[in-house]
Amino acid sequence: MSRILISGGTVVTADGPLDADVLVEGEKIEAVLPRGVIVTHADRVIDAAGRYVLPGGIDVHTHMEMPFGGTFSADTFETGTRAAAWGGTTTIIDFAVQAKGTSLLATLDKWHAKADGNCAIDYGFHMIVSDVNDTTLKEMDACIAAGVNSFKMFMAYPGVFYATDGEILLAMQQAARSGATVMMHAENGIAIDQLVAQALAAGRTAPVDHGLTRPPELEGEATSRAITLAQVANCPLYIVHLSASHALEVVAEARDSGQNVFAETCPQYLFLSLDDLARPEFEGAKFVCSPPLRPKSHQDSLWRGLRTNDLSVVSTDHCPFCFKEQKELGRGDFSKIPNGMPGVEHRMDLLHAGVAAGRITLPRWVEVASTTPARMFGLYPRKGVIATGSDADIVVYDPRARQTLSASTHHMNVDYSAYEGLEITGRVVTTLSRGRVVIDDGQYLGSAGHVTFLARGLNQYLL
Ligand SMILES: [Zn+2]
Repeated sequence: MSRILISGGTVVTADGPLDADVLVEGEKIEAVLPRGVIVTHADRVIDAAGRYVLPGGIDVHTHMEMPFGGTFSADTFETGTRAAAWGGTTTIIDFAVQAKGTSLLATLDKWHAKADGNCAIDYGFHMIVSDVNDTTLKEMDACIAAGVNSFKMFMAYPGVFYATDGEILLAMQQAARSGATVMMHAENGIAIDQLVAQALAAGRTAPVDHGLTRPPELEGEATSRAITLAQVANCPLYIVHLSASHALEVVAEARDSGQNVFAETCPQYLFLSLDDLARPEFEGAKFVCSPPLRPKSHQDSLWRGLRTNDLSVVSTDHCPFCFKEQKELGRGDFSKIPNGMPGVEHRMDLLHAGVAAGRITLPRWVEVASTTPARMFGLYPRKGVIATGSDADIVVYDPRARQTLSASTHHMNVDYSAYEGLEITGRVVTTLSRGRVVIDDGQYLGSAGHVTFLARGLNQYLL
């Protein structure tokens, strides 16, 4: 087994920074050592002086090769996980998508086949339940036994993923029996479809109309309804990609009352806004995702939510579609623009920019990007922490390096960057995935076969 010593750095965990060296043996962290302890016979020493040593990022919301509106998201498991490693993310949890009329277990097999042998970092799955019936409900237990114990449902996208309140209640009751978590895309899709039809009939067809027809009130309403249904079913609830202060308010209220309600937001809602969706010449299509980017005024509430822990996690909802030929499907009709944005590579950096700007603290960065995702989705302490016995998923991060985000330098398989030209401070130097150096000072050294599927345990925050 190879031994790697990461020496001279500042180990940052959710508890705070600590000057310490980290000894890796094989795939695991062997020891976190006080500075000055002499380690002999390390096969390699990584000099981390002046750098942070972080637990690898965990992105619990990605969509690699996802079918959507007749096309597929542009990153495969291979390209998407490689880009993640470049950005200091060492675990993703992707979504297996049940098509109507198919079984959950067959869906899971299909997603295993897509990911198996192709990923550069470890991965797990959530299951999207889009066809609630007796068979599906029974299969949820089999999914849990197979290491998939979080089920995503949609209050949006009627006719595609949409589930009625009754179906949601049934799935929540089923999940609750095992302590599994239901994840919710909370937007009122029925009302939104009416607004979309009205806009198109009135000739309002531009990308910005995507945002204007999905008002934040309808996210707030759906979030509140999801919370109520979860309360009735006594089911843990996790709101995905929360974008609006309206939704945050009802999440905060539910959390204050002691309900098992959790929420994540994404970098695009912290850094981008409706103004980007309104960029001229169809450029706004690059920023079409759902829920949509909001007016800038929501950003302050989201950062505050991260500080107060009403938002516990930052994931990316990475779902890239190329501008050419994919986003362009919606020229002249915003409702045909594939929904989703690239981001898996930049989450750690953008959150570090939040640290640099005084929006969140250094330990909070690690907490929302790694430690809490690990606990929320049953991977802790194997993942999400630098501690003896944990997987050696480690990032050496230079907090002073400058970089400019751009499609010409990123590693995601998509022809634009949502952050083109953005200058930020901080950059990944080295990424280890279970003890193996996969990114090293500007070089990719990983390979697809090295990683494993993570069968996950239950949410560790349940009251
Ligand atoms: Zn998503």
